[in-house]
Amino acid sequence: MGKLYSILFNKCPKCSKGSFWKSNNPYYNLFFKAGENHSKCSNCELKFEIEPGFFYGAMFVSYGLGIGLGSIILIIALAVFQFKNIVALTAIIGLSILILSPVNYYLSRLIWLNAFIDSKN
Ligand SMILES: [Zn+2]
Repeated sequence: MGKLYSILFNKCPKCSKGSFWKSNNPYYNLFFKAGENHSKCSNCELKFEIEPGFFYGAMFVSYGLGIGLGSIILIIALAVFQFKNIVALTAIIGLSILILSPVNYYLSRLIWLNAFIDSKN
């Protein structure tokens, strides 16, 4: 199992078996599990927070995902729909980033962790 599997299915980057987040649902995880992840893998005992403050680095990934989302919406709005109302476009992009922020948060940590830990298989 590769990194993509770990990121998309909330699995440990090393063994692909134990879960990283407490819930597989980004919204449920953020609002009902306080946005917390397991401290270690239930299968291989891998400590997820490699060093204190490790997950602060996920902010860089989060920034990239947000810019990526905004760019995709902008390109689709301009190229496909020829939508040129800049105020409405700004609102649409802002709202999309806001609504998808739990997904962004969820994926950021998984991507960040996968960048540092290699899978065994
Ligand atoms: Zn594991």
